[in-house]
Amino acid sequence: MQAPTSVLDLTYDQLVDLLGGWGEPRYRAKQVWEWLYRKFTTDPAQMTNLPKPLRERLGSEMRVDPLSEHYAQRSTDRQTYKWLYALPDGQAIETVLMLYDERRTVCISSQAGCAMGCTFCATGQGGLSRNLQSGEIASQVLAAARWLASPPPETGLVPSTLTNIVVMGMGEPLANYERVWQALRTITDAEGFNLGARHITLSTVGLVPGIRRMAEEPLQINLAVSLHAPNDELRSQLVPIDRRYPLAELMAAVRDYVARTHRRVTFEYALMNGINDTAALAREMAGLLRGLLCHVNLIPLNPVAGSPYQPSTPEQAATFQAILEQSGIPTTMRLRRGIDIDAGCGQLRQRITSVNA
Ligand code: SAH
Ligand code: SF4
Repeated sequence: MQAPTSVLDLTYDQLVDLLGGWGEPRYRAKQVWEWLYRKFTTDPAQMTNLPKPLRERLGSEMRVDPLSEHYAQRSTDRQTYKWLYALPDGQAIETVLMLYDERRTVCISSQAGCAMGCTFCATGQGGLSRNLQSGEIASQVLAAARWLASPPPETGLVPSTLTNIVVMGMGEPLANYERVWQALRTITDAEGFNLGARHITLSTVGLVPGIRRMAEEPLQINLAVSLHAPNDELRSQLVPIDRRYPLAELMAAVRDYVARTHRRVTFEYALMNGINDTAALAREMAGLLRGLLCHVNLIPLNPVAGSPYQPSTPEQAATFQAILEQSGIPTTMRLRRGIDIDAGCGQLRQRITSVNA
């Protein structure tokens, strides 16, 4: 295991051990935990109920905030905010905050880049740089919560709290399983940030062992699976990992997950013009999902520079949706919010990288 670089990488028990090793009484860990996860403090100097030597030691021996803001954007409708953060080693990740449907949802990254190579995805085009540490994952949530608690005056927003998390930013979360789950355990901790697991959704490209492992977790995080095609011939072209975990295996894992957890699974389907949006494929999808406790999230594709795919027309998308609905499969059509700020997966990083290149 890598040595922790940030105090946010630690579980509560690890923080107790660290501070105990520094000769501090047990209650100090609770105080630090509250500064981090309730007040979203990034500067130990502001942790005013700690003795000064402890504040200084925390500041010099541990990194408290592993993110530094590199670039921020907001959509013209002011409902989507996006940050590009630089990590201590210079890697860049994206976090998006969405303010609609009466929710305040943060979309967090789990890896710098992604190894899965989905052909329509901006993140997939650059390959994997590295896994994020759990503190780098948790601090994206804390940064969004801190921003909401005191939004910049020019936004016109009143102070509010974060209501939902989606692990749908850059990277494949089940390929960085341990660190992602440690971050989620920390964020749901009742003594800290205390967000209910049911307000968190993790999206996977379909890594079967990870889905099976998730089914055993006591923490009830929602599962979303990126399907994008109802048969292996087409899916393997869009989502190369389909060759390793074909649909029969993936659907068996999802069915077992639902049987075990009794929780509804979401399938994500990015509608691409002339590729995966025909009526015949909609009927095939309906057949594949028949009888399963699920919901389909249809997303008109966000076009990515250098990729041949285009979004479906509104008519084609509506037809596809109607066929699923008529077969009794509940759907939502996710609007392309934030498209004017490249809020699709990995798109801001791609633009900044090409600007800097
Ligand atoms: N790696 C995970 C989570 C991150 S991607 C996964 O693939 O599920 C989050 C979602 O964005 C996935 O459903 C992914 O398929 C989708 N996505 C990626 N690129 C997209 C694009 N250009 N337009 C629309 N959705 C896209
Ligand atoms: Fe990775 Fe998800 Fe993008 Fe596929 S869609 S390349 S799994 S981030």
